[in-house]
Amino acid sequence: MVTAVLQERWLPQRLGGNLALDFTNTATYQAGRVDRDYLASYEYLLAWALDADLIDADEAQRLSQISARAPEQGARALSSARELRQVLYLLFSGATRGRQYGQDDLTALNALIAAWMPRRQLHVVGDTCFWSWTHAAEDLEYVLGGVVLAAAELLVSSGSANIRCCPGCGWFFVDVSRNQRRRWCSMAFCGSKAKSRRQYQRKLANQPRGR
Ligand SMILES: [Zn+2]
Repeated sequence: MVTAVLQERWLPQRLGGNLALDFTNTATYQAGRVDRDYLASYEYLLAWALDADLIDADEAQRLSQISARAPEQGARALSSARELRQVLYLLFSGATRGRQYGQDDLTALNALIAAWMPRRQLHVVGDTCFWSWTHAAEDLEYVLGGVVLAAAELLVSSGSANIRCCPGCGWFFVDVSRNQRRRWCSMAFCGSKAKSRRQYQRKLANQPRGR
């Protein structure tokens, strides 16, 4: 099933330049509300985690089988993912407004940090160390640990000053452009839409008016 989801090419592009921003971009937003939600089911969360290299294909398959056996557990994990995404949406929105963070949102993220940090452990493959998470075999939510950690690290970094929000779709990204004037999530998506809208409006304005 995870493979099927991947084959459907449903995955949102990872354009944020940061894992936590890409996770928040698993929905598009209009006026602060979710417009399109890419996390349609727990399978979609797994497919996203696989695409983001949080888990490998075998692990995605294993978790998928558990959620098929215990759908209520999968639904709970999906609901936790959406709650985390909402907290991150509010915090990153605050970052784009001169790093003004809401106290409730910070409290919510701190609770998640407190829950996840004790479960962090170093894991070594070859000569490379990376963080992994202690978890029960049946735990369907641990894929969120990496997102929580990435969000916390981004917020304490100087990069937090460069978080931007695309006015077209509400996606977040870290602006690392030289002139710091990146406006759109991508020129291929919202940038080109805005360009054709401008061209259309110019064309209308230049048309001779009939009586
Ligand atoms: Zn956009």
